[in-house]
Amino acid sequence: MDLSKDEKYMKLAIAEANRAFEQGEFPVGCVIIFNDTIVASGSRLGTTSSEKYPSEIYHAEIRALQSFENSISDGMRDEYNGINNYETIAVCGEIGKISRTNIMAEKGALINRAKIVPEKGSLINRAKIVPEKGALINRAKIVPEKGSLISSSKIMPEQCTLYCTMEPCLMCFGAIILSGIKKIVYSFEDPMGGGTSCDLKSLSPLYRDSGIKITPHVLRYKSLELFARFFSKEDNLYWKDSLLEKYTLEEMVKTQGFKRA
Ligand SMILES: [Zn+2]
Repeated sequence: MDLSKDEKYMKLAIAEANRAFEQGEFPVGCVIIFNDTIVASGSRLGTTSSEKYPSEIYHAEIRALQSFENSISDGMRDEYNGINNYETIAVCGEIGKISRTNIMAEKGALINRAKIVPEKGSLINRAKIVPEKGALINRAKIVPEKGSLISSSKIMPEQCTLYCTMEPCLMCFGAIILSGIKKIVYSFEDPMGGGTSCDLKSLSPLYRDSGIKITPHVLRYKSLELFARFFSKEDNLYWKDSLLEKYTLEEMVKTQGFKRA
């Protein structure tokens, strides 16, 4: 286990959780990492106090898996050999940052000019190569400059790691297994709705033989602190007066006591 790497990527998941918190959402964040790059991200939605009935579908992990599927299906077009409509994916290491890239023509290709244009609404972890009018592109790929945060390659789910700030529930745990991802790293345990302690050996083959590995408690205190801040706000109603709230606030007191000691 590479702890420093796990901490580095958990910080990105916590940044997603912070974004959710600032919007009045339950602060869960999730990122999916392949080849040392972030290929998908998601945060909790549908839990603000203005919701008549909170969503139990828009969990951070499910939203990240949706973005993950888009990244994979776009990546499958990577081999496309067309003229003037070539697309490829640039995956950047940090949300919102594309540092520098070269567009390199393959041997025999004709490129006049092209630019990298981020997709609308994307966090700029994906980009298309869009040729300027009159340009000829046969085939091209995005090749990162040395030291840049961008790499492009086909995403292989079995080599991806999913980082989330709270232990996945049963729905998310099942969806992660079905996605083919083999490693989960989470931060704060969920004693009320966590699903990762279920006995996979007693389930059907797809789950039983998934070979999924789980690393708990990476940067636990940072996530705990954020959940405690959420539950300490009077106007946050999601899971108010629940076992999760009670446990989180008690753990916060315990941890603070420990820190003072
Ligand atoms: Zn979930």
